[in-house]
Amino acid sequence: MSRRVLLKLSGEVFGGGQIGIDPDVVSGIAVQVAEAVQEGIEVAIVVGGGNFFRGAELSQRGMERSRADYIGMLGTVMNALALQDFIEKTGVETRVQSAITMAQVAEPYIPRRAMRHLEKGRVVIFGAGAGMPYFSTDTVSAQRALEIKADAVLMSKNGVDGVYDADPRTTPDAQKYDQLTFDEALARGLKVVDAAAFALCMENRLPMIVFGMENDGNIARALRGEKIGTLVHA
Ligand code: UDP
Repeated sequence: MSRRVLLKLSGEVFGGGQIGIDPDVVSGIAVQVAEAVQEGIEVAIVVGGGNFFRGAELSQRGMERSRADYIGMLGTVMNALALQDFIEKTGVETRVQSAITMAQVAEPYIPRRAMRHLEKGRVVIFGAGAGMPYFSTDTVSAQRALEIKADAVLMSKNGVDGVYDADPRTTPDAQKYDQLTFDEALARGLKVVDAAAFALCMENRLPMIVFGMENDGNIARALRGEKIGTLVHA
């Protein structure tokens, strides 16, 4: 059986540090994904939406949380469509599946269909998160990875190249882990990935790789299973 992975891409990356979509960045990601697919790796992707809206931030400014989260989810669909476009330009086929029905632009989320697409060498991009407020796309990544029976969930991060024992942005002598257990990550309250995502992976013994985007090509390396970032395991 070929390697099947779920890649989480944060919205922040798509914007190249700004609001909106930076086509150069997204096309660079698309090329790396296409290379891996052409080598026979099955790739499903969950996209975030932080380059447009984050529900928690909007709600702090007075918006009702659920509505703010739905706005956040719609942002992830815009990223999914942008990524679809750039991946298809490489000649690799894709399907977008949205957790919120919008038949004109995406299939509904149907896990068995997603798996069939992957078997046929198509990239499946999951948009609209879980379709549920109060969730994050990190947590959805773990859930989707489990449901489509991925071998690992690959969490790409912006500005950090793995899991550290403290936040490296505020603690300059923080140490990076090569690997650690989910138990340890939860006990230490490490926030690089949501606790709910760690917990889901722990209960179901799904390995997680947390890696950074500091070098061009890191996504392709992670997709191929090269040693990169931090391995979090049960
Ligand atoms: N969101 C949600 N439910 C989900 C996934 C996402 O409500 O299942 C909303 C939430 O408001 C979140 C926003 O969509 O802030 C964008 O997702 P996220 O913050 O996870 O994106 P990232 O930080 O990865 O760019």
